[in-house]
Amino acid sequence: MEAKIISGTKLREDILDEISEKTLELKEKFNRPPGLVTILIGNNPASVSYVSLKIKTAERVGFKEVQENLNEDVSENELIALIKKYNEDETIDGILVQLPLPKHINEERVLNAIDPDKDVDGFHPVNVGRLIIGKKVIFAPCTPAGIIEMIKRSGIDTNGAEVVVVGRSNIVGKPIANMMLQKNEGANSTVTIVHTATRDLKSHCMRADILIVAAGVPGLVKPEWVKKGACVIDVGVNRVGEKISEKTGKKIPVLKGDVDFDEIKKIAGWITPVPGGVGPMTIAMLMKNTLKSMIARVEKSSV
Ligand code: NAP
Repeated sequence: MEAKIISGTKLREDILDEISEKTLELKEKFNRPPGLVTILIGNNPASVSYVSLKIKTAERVGFKEVQENLNEDVSENELIALIKKYNEDETIDGILVQLPLPKHINEERVLNAIDPDKDVDGFHPVNVGRLIIGKKVIFAPCTPAGIIEMIKRSGIDTNGAEVVVVGRSNIVGKPIANMMLQKNEGANSTVTIVHTATRDLKSHCMRADILIVAAGVPGLVKPEWVKKGACVIDVGVNRVGEKISEKTGKKIPVLKGDVDFDEIKKIAGWITPVPGGVGPMTIAMLMKNTLKSMIARVEKSSV
């Protein structure tokens, strides 16, 4: 039997509908919707396209959306001053600075300037610490949070499961490994992280009940590395060429994941496609973090 395909595109719609509904309730009760500010510096085409998708999605769920588009030559101090202004703004619950930043700006200083209680990307050291401790977690980074949501909503048993994570980046590998380790629903697993220095990658992958691959290497995971019935989450997004879009007639990139989807779907129990898998979940989780931020803020102020 072929693997069940976990569609991020479909789950995203369900999650956005839930967020829209909750937004209406909040608006009625507190007289304002959740507020998100997106700060874009310069006009890197990939960043412009990510930010416009975030803005569109925030508008779709009924959030207040503030856009700050700054020139490429903005100074670090000016950028930090802007962040501080939104740290103080009671109508803003989430501050997102689109990365990468221009070379003259220190990314660490900028991300550390965001109020941890408005850090909807979950990259501030305070939120990274909360994630590892497993208490008072409001903002898990969006891609790992999307992966957990996919696993939970697919009804996959994670309790005591062998989870193998390929990749140890700060935005995917390390946080998802930490989240799967927590004594929580949708986690409580036995976790192994593998990377380029790992001896015998294949033998680790073969043990996995849940295999999460975030390496950025197209087709890295081969069918013989996958246990029958395993859940395979492919985070990789690799541009392997270009094609003409049937819809628009324009050139678009051909995307491939880190696993051999066509062959592995004959072995796995569940698999995520690329595109249409983890990718669409990431922005949905950014909206969820913004919503959670407002809920935490209004609860705090009513105590
Ligand atoms: P990254 O920072 O480049 O990290 C890649 C990790 O994979 C590193 O830890 C690296 O090991 C490991 N790795 C690379 N080649 C390997 C190999 N042959 N064997 C074992 N380990 C290997 O990448 P990232 O930011 O985590 O992103 C990973 C992929 O996910 C990319 O394709 C990216 O585009 C995609 N992504 C997708 C989303 C989404 O929303 N769908 C979000 C974020 C990222 P070392 O540490 O030893 O170098």
